[in-house]
Amino acid sequence: MKTKLQALFQSEGYRIEMIQSNGQVAQATLSWDKRQKPRCSCGKKMRINRIERQAASDLPLGCASVVVVAYDGVQGFCKICQVYETRRPLEIVPNHHATLRFMRHVSLLCRWLPVSRVCEVVPVTPSTAARYDRYILKTELPDPCLDDLGAIIIDEKHLGKSGGFITLVLNARSGELLHLAEGRSQESLDGFFAKLTDKQKAAILAVAIDRSNAYRCAVESHLPHAQIVFDKFHLIANFSDVIDAVRRRSYSQASEADRAFIKGQRFNLLRNAENLSEKGRNELQTLLEANADLSAAYVLKDQLKEIWTYTYTASAAKALTRWVEMAVATGIRELGRFAKGLERAKDEILAFCKHRITSAKIEAFNGIVARVVRNACGLSNLDYLFLKLRQHSLQKW
Ligand SMILES: [Zn+2]
Repeated sequence: MKTKLQALFQSEGYRIEMIQSNGQVAQATLSWDKRQKPRCSCGKKMRINRIERQAASDLPLGCASVVVVAYDGVQGFCKICQVYETRRPLEIVPNHHATLRFMRHVSLLCRWLPVSRVCEVVPVTPSTAARYDRYILKTELPDPCLDDLGAIIIDEKHLGKSGGFITLVLNARSGELLHLAEGRSQESLDGFFAKLTDKQKAAILAVAIDRSNAYRCAVESHLPHAQIVFDKFHLIANFSDVIDAVRRRSYSQASEADRAFIKGQRFNLLRNAENLSEKGRNELQTLLEANADLSAAYVLKDQLKEIWTYTYTASAAKALTRWVEMAVATGIRELGRFAKGLERAKDEILAFCKHRITSAKIEAFNGIVARVVRNACGLSNLDYLFLKLRQHSLQKW
């Protein structure tokens, strides 16, 4: 038993003096074997300049949740490199006073649990857990892969009142997060394009964006050869806003009796019919029968999604034209205006057929953002937020 425990603390150049525990707390004491010379990273042996007793946190050991490693930090001097270097056991990270394996363990917990819960499993404060996690992600996550991207998605996210807007760039095929920057202006993308070589830029053939002008300008100036795609996710969201506008207008124009139907139906109108409860469906039915404008808008929403079910551009184009005609024919002001907008953006909408950019990656990523922000209880540090979101966007992390 004794030898097995010692194996946990074995480190080159060190002797395990003792391992002791009073139940809750355990300590391992490792001292430098003075017959040995520490080696410089160049491989040469160094002259010992100073030995200093230090301490670091380590992984929980059985019922001992607090484990401390007391060790000799050995500072040597390399004559070849003319530098001082310090040796430590167990890959201790000096700035964090912890072993690498402990930090990795905390980081793994942070992947699945809110930081507030991580502290119930290991004896660290929330800020220490976040600090460890950030260090591990920063040093161990692979760099974004920017070669042969083919297609990317640029999207904005709102992080609440204090967080403001951020701009995100995703690989449209793999869903990997490639870039995160503050704001949602044209300049928010400068940092991303600055990272790309000319060859990498040339490999981006399509960019999915919403219809905001800022991203469009940025793409047109940095990737003039790339085709812009307005993705389904944003267009459907835009149309939901239009339905909402119709609902509000209908309400303000309705008689007192009809208002009773419309009120409180915002939720039902925006949800997909198949997700509604029986009660919700019945209420919606009553509402639609009572209000022709809303009824038309609702039916058109389902029709709109059809456009993205086609493989061939010509078929999708026909569906789009049909939709625009129907929307205009309703004579409803809001729908007509939206339809005109779609017609103007026809090329960008139909480009999805060629590049096969779907909204699935954006929707999946929205789920990731919600989970990460919730678990980290408001990430105010954008570098850390980027690392966390990247971690979750990578399949293997
Ligand atoms: Zn050296």
